[in-house]
Amino acid sequence: MTLSPVLTFNDGNTIPQLGYGVWQVEDDVAEKVVAQAFEAGFRHIDTAKIYGNEAGVGRAIERSGLKPEDIFITTKLWNADQGYESTLKAFEESMERLGLETLDLYLIHWMQPKQDKYVDTWKALIELQKQGRVKTIGVSNFTKEGLQRLIDETGVVPAINQVELHPFFNQSELREFNASKGILTQAWSPLGQGGELLESPVIAQIAAKHNATPAQVVIAWHLAIGNVVIPKSVTESRIRENYAALEVSLDETDVQAINGLDQSAEGAGRIGPDPAVSDFA
Ligand code: NAD
Repeated sequence: MTLSPVLTFNDGNTIPQLGYGVWQVEDDVAEKVVAQAFEAGFRHIDTAKIYGNEAGVGRAIERSGLKPEDIFITTKLWNADQGYESTLKAFEESMERLGLETLDLYLIHWMQPKQDKYVDTWKALIELQKQGRVKTIGVSNFTKEGLQRLIDETGVVPAINQVELHPFFNQSELREFNASKGILTQAWSPLGQGGELLESPVIAQIAAKHNATPAQVVIAWHLAIGNVVIPKSVTESRIRENYAALEVSLDETDVQAINGLDQSAEGAGRIGPDPAVSDFA
């Protein structure tokens, strides 16, 4: 079985570049599909407190018999838990549900600029890392300004920034900023949530050329441009198909053609909320 390539964080730890995300998956279903993802070859799972399936992910880990050092688990601190003490507490509750001793990656889920607690929250993540409870700390849905503020006020650079990123919204500017600070970029909704993107004629043409599926081509594009990527599916054949994207190797012409699908210059392409202005409970 092909193993995912790994990328190295600014703290020296590594992350499998291809992972499996479980947003909008019921707890019981999560147990089943994470087991299928492990079977397919995935070793990196992306969950969050708010997904309500940390316990299901934990049961799948336990059932798998895989050693902690052979898997990589991410969970995220929910918005309502931001703040120093509340973060420490929420972390322990997540670990309890996951049934883990040590977490590979803990992320602040959203910046919440109006709530403005993310610097204190980040300090709690720094403390958890110091205590050895979490190996690597990072953020999700952070803007350049938010990242810079964490760096200026704590001196600790997040290892990764997980943001909405797919060919219709390719975040070239933020990717460049992240890279300039030594922050890896992780793509959420990497398949554009499976809508129009997978029907694009540009993607279809590249898929035909490589004897691959549209989803595989999009995943291969993420891998080619250096993103950590966490496609979701609850269909076993698609879980396997998505993992097999590791076998698809795009050339520079393919990558450029997919880069050309970005719609952000026209103010379009984004599916989810804009982190710069979104605060929600
Ligand atoms: P995605 O882009 O991975 O798309 C998933 C959908 O695409 C599936 O539900 C299915 O409809 C379709 N699909 C998947 N594989 C396919 C295939 N091989 N062929 C055809 N269609 C296929 O969307 P997502 O779930 O939004 O994002 C992936 C993961 O990113 C999530 O599960 C979660 O872990 C993470 N995420 C994080 C945040 C955040 O705020 N940090 C937000 C959204 C998602």
